[in-house]
Amino acid sequence: MSQNRQMNILKVAINVPLPTLFDYLPPLKSKIEQLKPGIRLEVPFGRRTMVGILLNVESETSLEIKKLKAAKLLIDSEPILPRELIELGKWISNYYHYPIGETLFNILPKLLRDGDLPAEIKDKTEPTKNKKIVEEKIPILNKHQNEAVKTIQSTQNFKPFLLDGVTGSGKTEVYLNAIESVLNQNKSALVLVPEISLTPQTIARFTERFKQDIAILHSRLTNKERAENWQRAKGGIAKIVIGTRSAIFTPMSNLGIIIIDEEHDLSFKQQSGLLYSAKNVGVMRAKLLDIPIILGSATPSLESVHNAEKNKYVKLHLPERAGKAVHPSINLIDMRNNAAKHGLSNKLTAQIKEHIARKGQVLIFINRRGYAPTLMCKNCGWSAECTNCDARMTLHMQPKYLHCHHCDKTIKVYKECPKCHSTKLSPSGFGTERIEEGLETLFPDTKIVRIDRDTTKTKGKINKIVADINNQNYQILIGTQMLAKGHDFPNVTLAAILNADGGLFSSDFRAEEYTAQLITQVSGRAGRAERPGEVYIQTYNPEHPLLIQLIQNGYQAFAQDALRERKEALLPPFSHWCLIRSRSNKQELALQFLENVKTLAEPYLTENIQVLGPITPPMARRAKQYHAQLLISSPNRNTLHKLLDKLIPSIKPPSNLHYSVDIDPVDML
Ligand code: ADP
Ligand code: ZN
Ligand code: ZN
Repeated sequence: MSQNRQMNILKVAINVPLPTLFDYLPPLKSKIEQLKPGIRLEVPFGRRTMVGILLNVESETSLEIKKLKAAKLLIDSEPILPRELIELGKWISNYYHYPIGETLFNILPKLLRDGDLPAEIKDKTEPTKNKKIVEEKIPILNKHQNEAVKTIQSTQNFKPFLLDGVTGSGKTEVYLNAIESVLNQNKSALVLVPEISLTPQTIARFTERFKQDIAILHSRLTNKERAENWQRAKGGIAKIVIGTRSAIFTPMSNLGIIIIDEEHDLSFKQQSGLLYSAKNVGVMRAKLLDIPIILGSATPSLESVHNAEKNKYVKLHLPERAGKAVHPSINLIDMRNNAAKHGLSNKLTAQIKEHIARKGQVLIFINRRGYAPTLMCKNCGWSAECTNCDARMTLHMQPKYLHCHHCDKTIKVYKECPKCHSTKLSPSGFGTERIEEGLETLFPDTKIVRIDRDTTKTKGKINKIVADINNQNYQILIGTQMLAKGHDFPNVTLAAILNADGGLFSSDFRAEEYTAQLITQVSGRAGRAERPGEVYIQTYNPEHPLLIQLIQNGYQAFAQDALRERKEALLPPFSHWCLIRSRSNKQELALQFLENVKTLAEPYLTENIQVLGPITPPMARRAKQYHAQLLISSPNRNTLHKLLDKLIPSIKPPSNLHYSVDIDPVDML
């Protein structure tokens, strides 16, 4: 090795599914001071030329020197990834057991991955807008908000805060104040919001408050827009970044605080490729930078509640609605002895009538779009199933077709039953379209609007609908999740949930938590302003202990009960999970592969580790592919990761099979 001592060996990350760095010699004629970690470079890779990121210059290589190739050229003169993000990338790669090269390229916007765009923007002049801040719009903080802001301002070091505040308690106001003091120290702020709630309403609250340049990062941007916003943040031009999940990777100059709003939201977990949680990554980034992070929610995830109880997070509580709004009253409607028409119980219909008469708006939530969850034959019991999936096809009527929501297959609606040739085919169950139709029959003189993925496809449509709602152009709003989150509808006085039961008997142990969050969030839409709100929940299980606890004592009490149950059953957060998933066009292959993985794990097993499976999930066949999964868990996180460190690199999947490693999985399907 002594001959290597004078050598400069480049350690390069490349966007390939291999868990290693690659060694290269510097390009001919390059100078040592140009070899800055974090720059991109072009390297020969097999027969191709690829873009790589330089991570380090070392003097040693485990390969034979004469076999090393030289990099072709250096793309950047300055690092494209700051050291901080490279360190974060290394942590992500370790924690999620994902190849380092692919991880780092995941962090870069698409255009920069291909080496097309320069890392620096030429024009660094700040677009000084002559913005006027409307001072009278800024409310005076109440006692609880004040306390929360003071506590946050008291630290500039790493500290995770859990801002647990009921809907409408003024969490956003707390964020705005925390950001303000960070900006005053000439630092910048990074705000993450769920996919669905990055609305013009949300953006306006930030742009109206701050003079500083704000970059917005969401999934609908073009690659060019995304790269430009990224560069504005990196160059220190945008002092505030607001974005969805992947915005957690935005390079920022002098970052002073990270805020994750609606921290319980599942959109913070990436569900394909690198299966990271932006919340976990956010906490780690705050730790590496030694800055505070705020996780805010009216319905914090049980993980976060648990972390607050263990004093890993500092809990800040906003128990009251801000301003004049009061908590809504929540009522259950027992569907077993309540007559229903069009999916609506008579009791609910009467309530809707009353609220409309008093000029309130009514919000109706159902978690299914389309007309009906399936089409059935009344003669033989046949139902329309997808030929690609173990799933029923949803009936849509506007326009009329059958649609599989899992693989996107669409077909014409059957005229007769393919099995018995009867023409007695009828929709079974209710979706948003069918409820809308029923409401139109029951309330012919009332303006009704449906909000789901089908009615908001065109760009800007959702904004128009939200504006029309707030201008009182509609009296009844019916919709899916899109309605339950993010929007502030001050005139809604009645919120109804038509089918709360689905989540109470699911095979996923987290379903109860998600149901409680949904009920609480939908309830929070009622009575946001001066008018008091009422909530009605239709259920066939009015004695369910979770429902009762939630309704009588609120989400916090529910969370305590649910955590106790999780502890007894040794479920997360009391154990740590890794789900290895496989899929293939043959079921045996998918299962056999995981059997092999299980065998590979055997030498490393200790008594603190459980291996469960392989099993097939409830919907085993999706889009013509068979799915299987193997669960490895341990009450001790380190024990689990030590095993995975040895196991994962030894897995060699056959070419006709896809597999993934999901650390801290949030859905078990
Ligand atoms: P959250 O994010 O907790 O749901 P918001 O921050 O959106 O709550 O606040 C709900 C409403 O209350 C908003 O219209 C906001 O302007 C208003 N608000 C917030 N704080 C105060 C306050 N201290 N006094 C009066 N109104 C307030
Ligand atoms: Zn039939
Ligand atoms: Zn399908």
